Amino acid sequence: MDHQKHPAESLLYKSKSAWYNVDNTLMSSVISFNESYKLFLNQAKTERETAVQITQLAQENGFAPINSVNKLQPGSKVMLNYRDKAVMLAVIGANPIDQGCNIIGSHTDAPRLDLKPNPLYEDQNLAMLKTHYYGGIKKYQWLGMPLALHGVICFKNGSSVNIMIGEESNDPVFTITDLLPHLAKEQMGKKMSEAISGEGLNIVVGGIPINEDEKLKNPVKLAVLDKLNQQFGITEEDFISAEFEVVPAWPARDVGLDSSMVGSYGQDDRVCVYTSLKALLDINTPTFTSVAMFMDKEEIGSSGNTGMAARTFENFMAELIARILPGYSELALRRCLATSKALSADVTAGLDPNYESVMEKMNASRLGYGVSITKYTGSRGKVHANDAHAEFLGYIRHLLNQNNIPWQTGELGKVDEGGGGTIAYLMAVYGMDVLDCGVPILGMHSPFEVASKVDIFSAYRAYKAFFLSQ
Ligand code: MN
Ligand code: MN
Repeated sequence: MDHQKHPAESLLYKSKSAWYNVDNTLMSSVISFNESYKLFLNQAKTERETAVQITQLAQENGFAPINSVNKLQPGSKVMLNYRDKAVMLAVIGANPIDQGCNIIGSHTDAPRLDLKPNPLYEDQNLAMLKTHYYGGIKKYQWLGMPLALHGVICFKNGSSVNIMIGEESNDPVFTITDLLPHLAKEQMGKKMSEAISGEGLNIVVGGIPINEDEKLKNPVKLAVLDKLNQQFGITEEDFISAEFEVVPAWPARDVGLDSSMVGSYGQDDRVCVYTSLKALLDINTPTFTSVAMFMDKEEIGSSGNTGMAARTFENFMAELIARILPGYSELALRRCLATSKALSADVTAGLDPNYESVMEKMNASRLGYGVSITKYTGSRGKVHANDAHAEFLGYIRHLLNQNNIPWQTGELGKVDEGGGGTIAYLMAVYGMDVLDCGVPILGMHSPFEVASKVDIFSAYRAYKAFFLSQ
C-alpha cells in the first residue's frame, strides 16, 4: 500500500539531487557550459593566466578599461586589470550608484609550488629546482606526478618574457620524485605532515652535463642554464625577478562513467571565477550596478596589493563613482559600499564518501545538489567568520527559489573539526551584506579537485539571478 502522506510532512525541508530536474534541454546546456569551463581551466592555471583570460573574455564582450572612459551611464561596461593578477568588472545599472551594487567576489590564485628566488642547483649529477609552496597543500600530493612550469621573468631592462613548459603533448614535464617503498620504512612511520618536508619539494630539471671537464663544477646545472639562456635569454640572476609556478601538467577531464563531474587542478576558486564571469557577461543594463571582482592571494590570507585586504577594490569603486556622479564624493562611495549586497563566490567542502566522519551530515554540502550557500565559515566556534545575517539568507533563498535554481546549504565540516575562510569577512568590512555562495568540491586543494557539472551550472545561474536581482 502506498504511504499516505501526513499533512505535517509538507513542513519538512528536503533537499534532493539537482540531477532529477535536468531534462534533455537542460542537460545539453549543462554539458556545453562545462565544455567551455574545462577549456578555461586549461588556459588559466595560474592567477596571471586567469587574469588574462578574464580580461580577454571581458574585452570580447564590450568591457573597456576604466581609464579609457570618462563618463559612465547605465549599460556601460568597464574593467580594471590590476597587476595582471586581480581583475574587477562592472556593468553600470539603472539605479543611482549610492543605492548600492550587486557584487560577487572570487579568487584567481590556487595552491601551488613557487620557485625560490635562487632555485637552481646540482646534486648527484641532476639539476634541481628549489620550491616554496603557496597556500594550504598536503605536500605528499605533489610527488610522483607530471608538473608544468608557468611563469614570467622580468629582465633588468624592464622587458619580460612568459614561459610555459609542460602543457603541450610534446613538451617535457618536471617532477618531484617520491621515495621507493622498499626503502621507506622510516618515512612510512612518520606523521603524514612530517613525512615530506617543505625543503624536500625539489624538482628534477635536467641530467646531461654540459661537457666532459673534471674541473668544471656543476656541469648539469650549467647545461640547464645554457639551455634556458638559448631559449629565453635567461641568466641565473634573472630568477630573482621572476615568478615561476609549478602546477600539475594535466588538463581538466570529465570524471565518472556518466561524465557527471569535472576533475581538474585549480577549481578552487576558478570554478567560481568562471561561473561569476559568465554570469556578468550575460548582463546588459541591470537595476543595480553589477560588479564582479576576481582577487588574488586568497590562499595566503588575501594580503598584498592584489588581495582583498588591500584597498584595490575600493579604489576601483571610487573610480566608478568619479565617472558616474558629477563630482567625486567620498560619502557616495561609502554609501554605495555599505548598501551593496555581496556574494563571496568560493568553493566549499563536499561530503566525501571516503571521509564522511569529518562532516556533520545534516549540515553538509553534497555533490549534485546545486550551488551551496554557507552562512558562516571560520573555525573553533565560528572564529573569523563573516556569519551572514538571517535577513540576507532569507533574501538569497527567496531569489534562488523564485528562479528555480537548485541550491543547498552546508557547513565547512563538523564543529571543531577544522575550518577555513573566504574573502567574505573582508568584503563585509565596508558594511555590505555578504554571503558565501559557491560550488562544493571533493579533494579541495589537491592537484585534482572534483566538482559536479550540475552544481557548476547552478552556480552560474545563481550568480546571474543575483546580478539581475532588484
Ligand atoms: Mn577558495
Ligand atoms: Mn582554497
